[in-house]
Amino acid sequence: MATATPAAAYSLEGCRWHGYLIDYYIYAPALPYATVITNAGNSWTQTPTKIFMVRVTTNTYNVLVDIYNFGNTGFDGITYYTCSAGYFSGHVETALNTYYTADYSSTGRQQVQAHEFGHSLGLGHNNSNCYTLMYPSSSRYFTCGIYTPQQDDINGINAIYP
Ligand SMILES: [Zn+2]
Repeated sequence: MATATPAAAYSLEGCRWHGYLIDYYIYAPALPYATVITNAGNSWTQTPTKIFMVRVTTNTYNVLVDIYNFGNTGFDGITYYTCSAGYFSGHVETALNTYYTADYSSTGRQQVQAHEFGHSLGLGHNNSNCYTLMYPSSSRYFTCGIYTPQQDDINGINAIYP
C-alpha cells in the first residue's frame, strides 16, 4: 500500500501572539453578526490546541472584529495586522465584506469569520486543499462544506503555539 503524500499543508504568516488567550472585541457595526462571530471564535477554542478565543466588551483586546461594505472587491473577508519581530504589534483587525456576506447564510458568514480568525492567530493560506478552513476562497464552504478548523489548520496552530 502506498501512502499518499498530503496534497496540501498549512502556511504561516510568521507572526503570533505571546499568549494563548486571545480576546476579541466585536465593534458596534458588527453586533448584528455577534452570534456568527462567537460561533467562529468558539470553533477555534474547541480545537485540540492551546488557543482560547474569548469575547470581551472592554477596550483591551487582541482582535477587533468589524464588518464593512468594501464593494465588489473579490474578497468576502480581510485581516489587517502589523508584525514586529515575529509578534503581532497592537491589535489585529478582521472585517467581513458585507457586499457579499449580506447574502450568505449564517454558516456562510461564520466560515468567513473563522477563516479571518485563523489569520488573526498567525495562519496563512492553504492554497491547494479546499477541505481546510485556511483555503483562500469561500469555495472551502460553498463547494467543500468546511466552516470550522480542520486537521491541517490545527496542525498549523500547534506549530505556531506548541
Ligand atoms: Zn485568507
